[in-house]
Amino acid sequence: WSKDGGRGRVSMFTPEMNRNVVERVRLLSRMRTAMESNAFSLHYQPQVATRNGAILGFEALVRWTDRELGPVSPARFIPACEETGMIIPLGLWVLEGACRQAMALIETGMTGLKMSVNVSVVQLSQHDFVRQVLEVLERTGLPPANLQLEITESLVIGSLDTAVGKLTELRKAGVQIALDDFGTGYSSLTYLRRLPIHTLKLDRGFIDEVTEKPEARNLVASILRIASDLSHTVVAEGVEDLAQWEALSRLGCDLIQGYFVSRPLPADQLGAFIAGWEKRRPALPLLDEHGT
Ligand code: C2E
Ligand code: MG
Ligand code: MG
Ligand code: MG
Repeated sequence: WSKDGGRGRVSMFTPEMNRNVVERVRLLSRMRTAMESNAFSLHYQPQVATRNGAILGFEALVRWTDRELGPVSPARFIPACEETGMIIPLGLWVLEGACRQAMALIETGMTGLKMSVNVSVVQLSQHDFVRQVLEVLERTGLPPANLQLEITESLVIGSLDTAVGKLTELRKAGVQIALDDFGTGYSSLTYLRRLPIHTLKLDRGFIDEVTEKPEARNLVASILRIASDLSHTVVAEGVEDLAQWEALSRLGCDLIQGYFVSRPLPADQLGAFIAGWEKRRPALPLLDEHGT
């Protein structure tokens, strides 16, 4: 009876909702299997200095390829994990894996490296979140200053004070805090003023347009000015070509991350990437122009 799909129709379940429910149940069931069988993995995407391309850090991004469903995007399964609470064990697993990987990279000489880890609002709202992070640091031996937690603005909606309290504790312990996807969602200057962050990550929505639309470029310039007034470092996400890099360089953005430098890579490809990038970097046209 909902076949016509008419807009004025009053019905509880449209075929599409039904399909969504079925897909969702399947997704949740496959996720449970994935948790039990260690089917998740981590990829790492480099973050480089805009000025000279030096590798300053990596962002850990969780990956899941299911035997039945194939590769599933974190944009799909993370929200499901948050709803079911599975994000708690998964988030801890990600944090520990990323810290171990950071230690391995530090041992190759990248001592100043920052490993960025996405943290869900559900994790942050755990009463012992701070202790958990500090315990992982202790277990893995990673110095706190080499860890950066990425949070999103949505987390703040419920309990800004509690969030600020926990983040301040972590900050005091030496952990870096970044505000992810800045410019999307509920961004407001209040969050920017109150959250004890070091770094702001400009959402890739801005970067898409930075070379094409003067308004976008002006907006990015304004955000960079505000960030600089607050002494925040800025990372541009989703930089896909040299023109975007150049534009961001001219605007004074500190770091860039995106497919132009590298897609997120599995751990066993990091060594080759680092060696290759260090060879390629001095030849980048960008550096000819602006010097190193
Ligand atoms: P995010 O934290 O904003 O991560 C950046 C996303 O942009 C990643 O998508 C990355 O692969 C993608 N990306 C990077 N460079 C480019 C580019 O040049 N062009 C384009 N088009 N995309 C680019 P991914 O890995 O699919 O992750 C999506 C989101 O899922 C992440 O957004 C993050 O919010 C969430 N996520 C991923 N891993 C975790 C995790 O371990 N824990 C939590 N809580 N969330 C995670
Ligand atoms: Mg992130
Ligand atoms: Mg982001
Ligand atoms: Mg994002």
